[in-house]
Formats: sequence, structure tokens, C-alpha cells
Amino acid sequence: MKEFDVVVIGAGAAGLMCGATAGYRGKSVAILDMGKKAGRKILISGGGRCNFTNENTKPENYLCRNPHFVKSCLSRYTQFDFIDLVDRHGLAFHHKTLGQLFCDNSAQDIVDILMTECEWAGVEVTLRTEVLKVSKNEDGYYLNTSNGDYQCQSLVVASGGLTMPKLGATPIGYQIAEQFNLAVLPTTAALVPFTLHDHDKQRFDGLSGMSIDCLVSSENEQSFRENILFTHRGLSGPAILQISSYWQAGQAVSINLLPDLTLSELIASWRQNSPKKSLKNCLSEILPKRFIEILINEQAIPDKAVNQLTHTEIKQIHDYFHNWMIKPNGTEGYRTAEVTLGGVDTDELSSKTFEAKKAKGLYFIGEVTEVTGWLGGYNFQYAWSSGVACGLAV
Ligand code: FAD
Repeated sequence: MKEFDVVVIGAGAAGLMCGATAGYRGKSVAILDMGKKAGRKILISGGGRCNFTNENTKPENYLCRNPHFVKSCLSRYTQFDFIDLVDRHGLAFHHKTLGQLFCDNSAQDIVDILMTECEWAGVEVTLRTEVLKVSKNEDGYYLNTSNGDYQCQSLVVASGGLTMPKLGATPIGYQIAEQFNLAVLPTTAALVPFTLHDHDKQRFDGLSGMSIDCLVSSENEQSFRENILFTHRGLSGPAILQISSYWQAGQAVSINLLPDLTLSELIASWRQNSPKKSLKNCLSEILPKRFIEILINEQAIPDKAVNQLTHTEIKQIHDYFHNWMIKPNGTEGYRTAEVTLGGVDTDELSSKTFEAKKAKGLYFIGEVTEVTGWLGGYNFQYAWSSGVACGLAV
């Protein structure tokens, strides 16, 4: 049996950060992961370039039953602290839109930085080791793994969520929480594309690959201004992924297809300047033509010259484009989702240390907790911040 001060389950973003932080404090640390490589989700993130943080990270960018929970860790280890770390390692990176930071070369650079930090901190990272069972005895926590048994004073669960089962996602973190009587909030896929009902799929067949800059809103009035993308299964694109975290089965989403314009005013100007021009041709100047043709063909909007439109029709057309309602059939689920909504209830954890209030020496960090960030580097920032807070406490 191997003995350590700290055992971390999961060599992902949160686990590696926590392990290195604890190692630098002189703790003996083992990080166990069932994968062949460390940081497998980091490697596939951000299209292979890892959107590793967001310069504008704020607590408001997270969904959590207790919105105050993330404040402490995000303020103790900020996005700028992580930027300092990657700067010290000479990482080449660039800014994209909305404060998102990406590696210039490859997400492998981020994994290399974390593995180097672990090495410098004397942390043992052991791969191909699946944690099968955890128990508690008078000496601390005892782990049965596919690669021998471990004993530790502090057990950190950084086993992630349920997304991408191909990459080794397991429910072990939730099972450990339940074993120690901690509440686990129901889990669902988030930051995930929507699937559409068959009739909508048929309507938009042929639009696959087309994207439109929109303002998308959920029924609880959360809005995101980014692109939507038609796919052969339904709708995706950053605005859709963002709103999926706020969507519940059976609800509709409202899509403002012309967020920078007031269509009724635009129609008035068309009526004045080019009265005989068809509505279809006018609209095709501001939205993709194939999309407008579908709406005309299904008579969602009239096939008329703009000077023939009645005032009632103008109001209906205005409302249609500024509040285009779509009722998704569902989501693509954990297979393609970026994150898991729900997880270990943060009411059960200290927001300073991430230790379970009911189980001394047991900690939960990263995605296994019910904290879910927006798209745009926020999820990794929470992994870094929760990892450091916990690493300083174990
Ligand atoms: P994980 O990274 O999931 O790590 C958990 C680890 O635990 C895994 O390595 C797993 O093998 C291991 N494990 C699980 N069970 C066991 C067990 N029983 N025994 C041993 N080991 C076990 N977020 C961003 O901020 N920016 C992005 O660009 C971004 N892109 C993404 C792209 C994709 C396709 C996906 C799926 C996610 C993306 N995310 C992104 C989200 C981000 O990857 C996660 O929020 C983050 O990886 C969570 O880190 P974690 O350490 O909590 O969990």
C-alpha cells in the first residue's frame, strides 16, 4: 500500500493545479488518473488550442445554486494569476473575442506547463490507474485502485463531470459524495447543441453550416449575443451552447435575428426608397437568402412587394424576426456537451477550502461540483481557482 498526505482523483485541470499547489507546500501528493495521458480534456479543448481563461472572469459568469460560492476562490486565484503562470513558462497565446485567451500553438502547451509544475513540486502523477472504491478509517482515506491501494490524510476528488464518456468520464465523484452523505444536484449536459423536432429539421434541411449573429434568450431571460449555427441535427454555435445551460426540456428559446436593427423602421425606409422591391429581396440583403426563401415558401412571411404590406403585416414581420421562437426537441447530450450542469452541492462544501463540511479531509473541486461556467474559458478558470484554493488547504 502506498501512503501520501494527499491523493487527488483526476489528472485534469483542477486535479493537476491542486496537486502542484499542495506539493509546493511540502505535502506528499499522488494524482491518479485512469487515462493514458494527463489533461485529456485540456488537449481537445478550444479546438485543440485550449481557451485557458477569460480576461473578464467574474462570479456572474457561473451557474451555481449559491451565486456567492465562487467569489472566494476566483478572487484568491484570478485569471491574471493564471496568465502570470503561463507567462513564466513562456507560453505564446492570443486574445480572441470577448476576453477569451487561446494558445498560439497547441493545448499540449498547457498540459506541459501543469506537468512541469507538478514535477517541480515533487508530485507523483500516476496514469492508467482507475479508482474503484474509497473508504475511511482512523488513519484517513483508503483507496482501492486498478493499480494497488493508497492511503492518505486528505482525499481530493477532481474527477470531472459526465461529458465525453469516450475520454473516461465516470460518476465516481458523485458516488463518493453520496457515500459520505453529501447532496448531489441532478446532472444534465450543458454548453451543448440543441436537436430539433423532425418538422423543424425538415424545414431547415439545407441550411447546415450557415451561421447568423443573433441575440438568443431563454425563458428565464438570460441572453447571449453571438452566432447561432444550423447543423444537420439542429442548432449549435456559441450563442446556442451558452443558452443551453439555462434551458429546460419543453421550453422555447427566443432568437432576435436582427439585434442591431429595428425592422419596422427598416421596412418603412424600404417602402420609401424602393417601394416595388419584394420583401424577400430586401430581407435577403440583411439575412442569408436561403433562410429567407424557406420562410417565404412556408408563408411565415408574405411574398409581396414592400409597398403592398399592411401595417398589421409589418408589425407581424417585425415581431417574427426580433422574436423568432424555436422549441428544441432536446440536446445532443453528454456525447458532445462541454460541461455537466449540477453535481456536488456547494452548500456541502467550504467555499474557502472546498472541504466537505460533513467529512473532514474530503475535498471536491472542478467540474464535479455543481459550478458551471459560461463558454469562453470560464470553466478552466474555475478549475484553476478551485484547485489552488484546495491545494492551499489540504
Ligand atoms: P476533467 O478535466 O474532466 O478531469 C477529470 C479527470 O478525472 C479525467 O482525466 C478522468 O480520466 C479522471 N477520472 C474520472 N474518473 C476516474 C476514476 N474513477 N479513476 C481515475 N481517474 C478518473 N473549458 C474552458 O474553459 N475552455 C475551453 O476551451 C473548453 N473547451 C472544451 C472542449 C470540449 C470538447 C469539452 C468536452 C470541454 C471543454 N471545456 C472547456 C470544459 C473543460 O474541459 C472542463 O470544465 C474541465 O476540463 C474540468 O476540469 P476538471 O479537472 O474538473 O475535470
